Amino acid sequence: MMLGYLLARAGVDVIVLEKHADFLRDFRGDTVHPSTLEVMAELGVLDDFLTRPHTELREIGGRVNGVEVTIADLRHLPTRCKFVAVMPQWDFLNFLAERGTAFPEFRVLMRAEVSDLIIEAGHVIGAHADTPDGPLEIRAELVVGADGRHSTVRERAGLTVQDFGAPIDVLWMRLSKHPSDSGSVLGYFDAGRLFVTIDRGDYWQCAFVIPKGGFDALRARDIQVLRDEIASIGPFTRDRVAALHDWNDVKLLTVVVDRLRTWHRPGLLCIGDAAHAMSPMGGVGINLAIQDAVAAANILAAPLRDGTISERHLHAVERRRLFAIRVTQWAQVFAAARIFGSVASVAPRPPSRTGSLPWPLRLLQWFPYLRRFPARFIGMGVRPEHVRTPEIAKAKSA
Ligand SMILES: Cc1cc2nc3c(=O)[nH]c(=O)nc-3n(C[C@H](O)[C@H](O)[C@H](O)COP(=O)(O)OP(=O)(O)OC[C@H]3O[C@@H](n4cnc5c(N)ncnc54)[C@H](O)[C@@H]3O)c2cc1C
Repeated sequence: MMLGYLLARAGVDVIVLEKHADFLRDFRGDTVHPSTLEVMAELGVLDDFLTRPHTELREIGGRVNGVEVTIADLRHLPTRCKFVAVMPQWDFLNFLAERGTAFPEFRVLMRAEVSDLIIEAGHVIGAHADTPDGPLEIRAELVVGADGRHSTVRERAGLTVQDFGAPIDVLWMRLSKHPSDSGSVLGYFDAGRLFVTIDRGDYWQCAFVIPKGGFDALRARDIQVLRDEIASIGPFTRDRVAALHDWNDVKLLTVVVDRLRTWHRPGLLCIGDAAHAMSPMGGVGINLAIQDAVAAANILAAPLRDGTISERHLHAVERRRLFAIRVTQWAQVFAAARIFGSVASVAPRPPSRTGSLPWPLRLLQWFPYLRRFPARFIGMGVRPEHVRTPEIAKAKSA
């Protein structure tokens, strides 16, 4: 959506195909980081964007082994917004889709599911999609696969995937929110278990991390096992976990960390999770996908407008983004292995000694200045991108 918006704004004809009828998916995460807010400012839409309901996180923290800790302090970032805006991603996508309608070059087709690519002489020249009105064939100078971690596009393109392994999956559920709840604690960590709460205004969207592939064994047991686990790690939920009536109230989200060996072939480029699936660690995947879109638009807008696009340009996008993606995926895999590597089941474990903190966290509590480093990594990421594409398209209202 972001790449479509940027290209249309720069005068390139774009069609965005989305397989669902709306963006109301629960699995996307809700964090709009300072780097993305900076992009919105560069596009001149930040003030309008921030009028949408959201909460602002200036510090990121958690409760580790019973101790409240602050991990990142975003208030010193060299960005206009020194906070993470917590906003459901469907609001973010709706905002872009609405603003994009101002450009005649921008079209979004909902309920259009890409089923295959059109390939001639090894060159991708379009895509087939299934729509409620029947099959659709779209021919284009460039097809961009931005269809997430189970990408059809990358599979049909025959691009090779390197899997880096993720030791975890996530159970996703809603719990009610009370006015007295603390809004600041995001993650609860104890004895290799992690429970994350995301403030969605009138309820908590919660994530409980389980070992990869462990859901079937867990489901075979009574839901009370999960209720007890959650209540023991996040005691404030004790009076509301009963809302999890049975396993239908819990959704399994599979976590993948992988990357394409090459993100492109003639006529086709993959970006976002389709090129490099990110795990939820650090909550940075959305922002990396946005950064890919900005870099891709910067490099591709002019050759697409002039009709001179070639694989050299597509490779330039991959080259531009690869370092940031490698570093971030390495950090995600490393952190997950350190935290969850030894976790074998969701059976009760002995609680950690209350008050015992791993040494990096102890350092962050003793020397608050150090909290600026994780803030930079989470808030801005490696190699933040800036909008370089001009606004060429004439907005409809102009
Ligand atoms: C459990 C979990 C929690 C996470 N939490 C966070 C978080 O809090 N913050 C964060 O930054 N990141 C988070 N992430 C990572 C983040 O979700 C991804 O990195 C990010 O969504 C990638 O964006 P994307 O646009 O590439 O793909 P997606 O967000 O997956 O979007 C792909 C889009 O393509 C559509 N689509 C798929 N197939 C087709 C098709 N064949 N035809 C047409 N349309 C199609 C989908 O409907 C979807 O709209 C989390 C990941 C997981 C697994």
